[in-house]
Amino acid sequence: MGLHYAKLPRRIYEYHIRYNVNRPKGTSIPVTDIDRMLHPDEARQIVISHSRPLGRERVPLEQAGGRILAEPLVATQSLPPFRASTMDGFAVVHDDPADELVILPGGLAGAVREDPITAGHAARIMTGAPVPEGADAVVPVENTVESAGRVQITQPRVRSGDNIRPVGSDMMEGDRLLDAGVRLSAPDLGLLASLGHATVEVGRRPTVAVFSTGDELVPPDAEPGPGQIRDSNRFSLAHAAQLTGARVVINRHIPDDIDQLREAFTGALEAADVVVTSGGVSMGDRDLVKALLGEVAEVHFRRVFMKPGKPLNFATVGDKLIFGLPGNPVSCLVSFHMFAAPALGVLQGAPPDEYARVPVRVEQPIQPSDRIEYQRARIVAEQDGSLTATTTGSQQSARLQSFIGANGFLVVPPSEEEIPAGSVLEAIPFAPPASR
Ligand code: AMP
Ligand code: MG
Repeated sequence: MGLHYAKLPRRIYEYHIRYNVNRPKGTSIPVTDIDRMLHPDEARQIVISHSRPLGRERVPLEQAGGRILAEPLVATQSLPPFRASTMDGFAVVHDDPADELVILPGGLAGAVREDPITAGHAARIMTGAPVPEGADAVVPVENTVESAGRVQITQPRVRSGDNIRPVGSDMMEGDRLLDAGVRLSAPDLGLLASLGHATVEVGRRPTVAVFSTGDELVPPDAEPGPGQIRDSNRFSLAHAAQLTGARVVINRHIPDDIDQLREAFTGALEAADVVVTSGGVSMGDRDLVKALLGEVAEVHFRRVFMKPGKPLNFATVGDKLIFGLPGNPVSCLVSFHMFAAPALGVLQGAPPDEYARVPVRVEQPIQPSDRIEYQRARIVAEQDGSLTATTTGSQQSARLQSFIGANGFLVVPPSEEEIPAGSVLEAIPFAPPASR
């Protein structure tokens, strides 16, 4: 078999050839297919191609916020269903010549007036109430003086239609309001409710098992001994998974022991749709996740041409997805964001959208690496409407602090030359831009 470069952009293709990045160091043995180093875009396509929506369920509106809508929302009626006042005031005939109008009795919220308004008369009306027959405008109460059952209009006369929302001005029967696949927002829930939906069909939430692996890890409340560190990935990963809408059903640490690992995987594959692990996927002897996946799952790729996060194992067992993420805390989160998060969205029925990329001007010289690098950056919206970016200090893959203050990834193409300040690069925002 040969190396597959067909889908890689030319620049990176040349880079592979020049630096032999695809060949294990010190060998001339061709890499096996799953060890082929993939462009991140190709890797993501592979992940998405194995991500099948889990099906739908009906939930009450109270629980539907943030869920993925499973079927389009079409207006089954026009709203408002009657001409509605936009003001508290008086419903009138707009060109009534009388100086003072006789106020008709009634006009409280919810009461519907049967008899039409005629010239010389006004009807008290509340915001949102039906405008009575015969009236064609509403005079706001602040433009009137009322005394002894009569009302005088103090401001310039209203025109026909003033302060009235016509039938169907909010939505017309048949309007397509929401497409399947949208994440339900606050106004979306309002639309559903106003059309009479107390429940809604949404995509099922994937269940996720999160494992951190490594003999060196101790829980956050333990004092690390020599050579030990506190386990941080388990917590970041579980929350990152929840933010996509997934439900974390298992979250624990496993030592570097193949039997314990195997047992944990067996349980996880029964209990969860997706397994996310951290650690144990590099080239070390103790990299048992990689070994186990080769044994129990179908591995699709193991290496991605990116930094941080090159050793990333993606495997499946039937429709279940397994992400073997690298242990370094930044690599772990960046690769979760780039691969696992989109898959968790697709399982819920969201479209496999690429992350939006925006052009940003870099404020400082950027040091590229030998791979596509996702540097943590602070993106700022400037007064002139352009976006600038600064990276958040040292970009080492163990330095979680590089996420502090970051609202996006700066996509730095591989190169041997420094990228000068003022250059325009792409960024992938994960939060709104900051202001200066
Ligand atoms: P590994 O991918 O298992 O070789 O781990 C790479 C590096 O990440 C090592 O320095 C680990 O100690 C560190 N690491 C692995 N897992 C975690 C974790 N759960 N929390 C914090 N650091 C970790
Ligand atoms: Mg390890």
